[in-house]
Amino acid sequence: MIILLDQDGVLADFEHAFIDAWKARYPHIAPIAYEDRKSFYIREDYGPELRGMAEAIYTAPGFIRDLPPVPGALEAVRELLALGLDVRICSSPLSQFENCVAEKYLWVEKHLGREATSRLILTKDKTLVRGDLLIDDKPRIEGAVAPRWKHILYDAPYNRHVTDAPRLTWANWRNVLAGELYTADE
Ligand SMILES: [Mg+2]
Repeated sequence: MIILLDQDGVLADFEHAFIDAWKARYPHIAPIAYEDRKSFYIREDYGPELRGMAEAIYTAPGFIRDLPPVPGALEAVRELLALGLDVRICSSPLSQFENCVAEKYLWVEKHLGREATSRLILTKDKTLVRGDLLIDDKPRIEGAVAPRWKHILYDAPYNRHVTDAPRLTWANWRNVLAGELYTADE
């Protein structure tokens, strides 16, 4: 069984790191609180006059490399691997790929070891990747083809309008995945 795990917002804590970086860089302007996030794309939650400032944060050298892990995520990856599941990290790099692409590899190396970088799949179209499950915080994942994987939504304030997908966090993943794993053929 192949389990695809998204990186930002699932393994790497983009959201809280962004808020911390915003406070450090722009102390005179309050960032949008995590619980008030509405759009999947963080820059869209800011007014047009602030969007460039938001973009400057997540495209800055080192931002993606230095993201802290989502609490519980690394332990869950290790446990899924120990269960014999084929875990892959399936991530869409930013369109401003210059820092992001290498830093995604560096992040995986730092937190899961160099060998784990062979599990990283970077693509702008996740529907073209084969797998049984995709755990991802993006509300709707579309692309060139109908995906072969089942989307399990990693819970976030900006995806709570989606009510027709199973929802998971690293606090309850065992219960949510239990049903999926036991109904699979292998
Ligand atoms: Mg994500």
